[in-house]
Amino acid sequence: MRLIFLGPPGAGKGTQAGLVSQKLGVPQISTGDILRDAVRAKADLGLKAKAFMDSGALVPDDLMLALVQERLEKPDCQKGFVLDGYPRTLPQAKALDRMLEAERQKIDAVVFIDVKDEVVVWRLSRRRVCPGCKALYNLDANPPRMEDKCDECGTALVTRADDSEATIRTRLKVYRNETLPLVDYYQAKGVLKTTAGEGTVEDIFTAIMEELSEVGQV
Ligand code: AMP
Repeated sequence: MRLIFLGPPGAGKGTQAGLVSQKLGVPQISTGDILRDAVRAKADLGLKAKAFMDSGALVPDDLMLALVQERLEKPDCQKGFVLDGYPRTLPQAKALDRMLEAERQKIDAVVFIDVKDEVVVWRLSRRRVCPGCKALYNLDANPPRMEDKCDECGTALVTRADDSEATIRTRLKVYRNETLPLVDYYQAKGVLKTTAGEGTVEDIFTAIMEELSEVGQV
């Protein structure tokens, strides 16, 4: 299955995309994680992307298209993938369609997880991430067993640089202006599946899997 996870920052896209990718046995492709790894490695892409990311702006489309094209060409994407954080603009969505059409493929479903702005601000200011295995935590809803250490790999957890309240507000504005129009774009294509993003991780996952079972074998 070829899936896209869409929603505001802090909607739970990363968490749910991870669970769905495990369940379906296809890779989760988080463009944010790929960019953060490139920033940490001081790779060319990371140097170009860092200032945009730190301010809560989007990284330019041409860089994102090249990144996604290269990742989708890898053999592990042959059976499907879960895109988490891409596309975020209409030109990105159209470019993805063109890439897939060239391979006679298409997106099977777009999982849109919606949550209110205040929930986003609260969730992200309490978020901690593992720079090692990319596991995600929330100090209230899903705390690590040991303070500041990843349950999965023991790496010290960090707060993302862009999870400060001012940057979260900028990211929400960017989301509304640039990314929200994709809801109509995918609705018109008949592939949009909307899920409320407030509830337990397990309940939201169950709701998403129910939606996906209508699309195909999951
Ligand atoms: P995320 O981890 O998905 O919240 O992404 C973190 C940051 O990486 C975003 O705020 C953007 O600056 C950048 N980013 C990730 N994915 C994209 C994308 N598809 N287009 C543009 N910028 C992106």
